[in-house]
Amino acid sequence: MVVVGGGLAGVRAVEALRARGFGGGLTLVSAEAHRPYDRPPLSKAVLAGDADDTAVDADWDALRCDLLLGERATALRLDGRGGAVATTAGELPFDGLVVATGATPVTLPGPGRQHVLRTLEDARDLRARLVPGARVVIVGAGWIGAEVATAAARKGGRVTVVEAGPAPLGHALGAELGARTAPWYAEAGVELRTGAGVASVEDGGLLLADGTRIDADAVVTGVGVRPNVGWLSGSGLDVERGVLTDSALRASVDGTARPDVVAVGDCAAWWSRRYGRRLLVEHWDTALNAPETAAATLLGEAAEYDAVPYFWSEQFGRMVQYAGRHEGAERRVDRGDPAAGPWSALWLTGDRIDAVLAVDRPRDLVQARKIMTTGAAVDSEKVTDPNIPLRQCVRA
Ligand SMILES: Cc1cc2nc3c(=O)[nH]c(=O)nc-3n(C[C@H](O)[C@H](O)[C@H](O)COP(=O)(O)OP(=O)(O)OC[C@H]3O[C@@H](n4cnc5c(N)ncnc54)[C@H](O)[C@@H]3O)c2cc1C
Repeated sequence: MVVVGGGLAGVRAVEALRARGFGGGLTLVSAEAHRPYDRPPLSKAVLAGDADDTAVDADWDALRCDLLLGERATALRLDGRGGAVATTAGELPFDGLVVATGATPVTLPGPGRQHVLRTLEDARDLRARLVPGARVVIVGAGWIGAEVATAAARKGGRVTVVEAGPAPLGHALGAELGARTAPWYAEAGVELRTGAGVASVEDGGLLLADGTRIDADAVVTGVGVRPNVGWLSGSGLDVERGVLTDSALRASVDGTARPDVVAVGDCAAWWSRRYGRRLLVEHWDTALNAPETAAATLLGEAAEYDAVPYFWSEQFGRMVQYAGRHEGAERRVDRGDPAAGPWSALWLTGDRIDAVLAVDRPRDLVQARKIMTTGAAVDSEKVTDPNIPLRQCVRA
């Protein structure tokens, strides 16, 4: 078995294959020189200076896995059954393949230096720039932008966040809900400029689409990621934005599933039976749990990945958690007063919960997620009362 990609999804695939009794040869090839590590702390504890090593706690000796670190897969050849991965360390023939190559940040046009935040090196490099008085300009008020702004402001930087949309988190939550987070920026002393598109990153700052220049000691670009699937071109695998898979996480050629090739994590667009569509979920929880299904599939067991997607972010001293999918929901209701403290929002269709956003209300997140997983109906009057635990709102 060959695993390409040494992020969380890659290491979890290795662990799951061994845990399920696979006793054959196992190789993990990864472009990064490090053993697999967790990325969420990069924009939190690592930027803050509270951590420097986020390695995933895996027993590599017990896993009996050949680690080819700092080596890159460059092409894939598929045979009738199995095939070979061309890598910078030579060809790796396989009977089963896990594609777990993750994603890479998108960058902006322009000749100026722009920081992105994906790797440990990125985080250490940026951390060194977050000094008192530094003018830090962050492009994108999404999850990463908000977390970097939090860290930069805490370090005493003069922080500006530039967002093309009308509000922070507009893509993820919609502008109306995202706008509730705008005061958090002001409270932290961060200037938020919405409706401001960036034309280019220049030396010493950036140029907005309307011609305004913003000077900066460091420009950080946090405008999204793109799956690392270029190495698969010419392989015949069905790839759109990510590697297309069925609900067993099997990749396909011309729409026909390959039982010997699976894809997981940020590079995979998997078919969700629950939502009746493909999902490309760039979140830690998917990279953690989907490999279990992928490993079972490779070993010929019947398995399906059908989780309710979950994500969290720590920004401006708040824990923000989201689960489900709210597209197409009939309505949204609040639990608690957003202006006064912890609150949640629930998206509902009929008496079912489609999604939850919880701000410093982790119990709402856990309970709503469980309710969504089981598909239970709720009393849609009771759920608006923040003093009634959601689990008590489930209809008998
Ligand atoms: C700064 C940051 C903060 C985050 N915070 C959160 C959070 O708070 N909550 C949350 O839910 N999610 C968070 N995420 C998202 C989460 O970390 C990702 O969803 C997760 O890391 C995806 O894991 P992965 O293994 O699929 O991909 P990756 O972690 O991207 O790993 C892929 C690996 O494959 C390697 N690779 C790529 N191409 C090749 C190739 N051709 N050959 C060999 N190797 C290759 C890459 O170098 C990389 O090591 C955050 C991400 C970042 C970057």
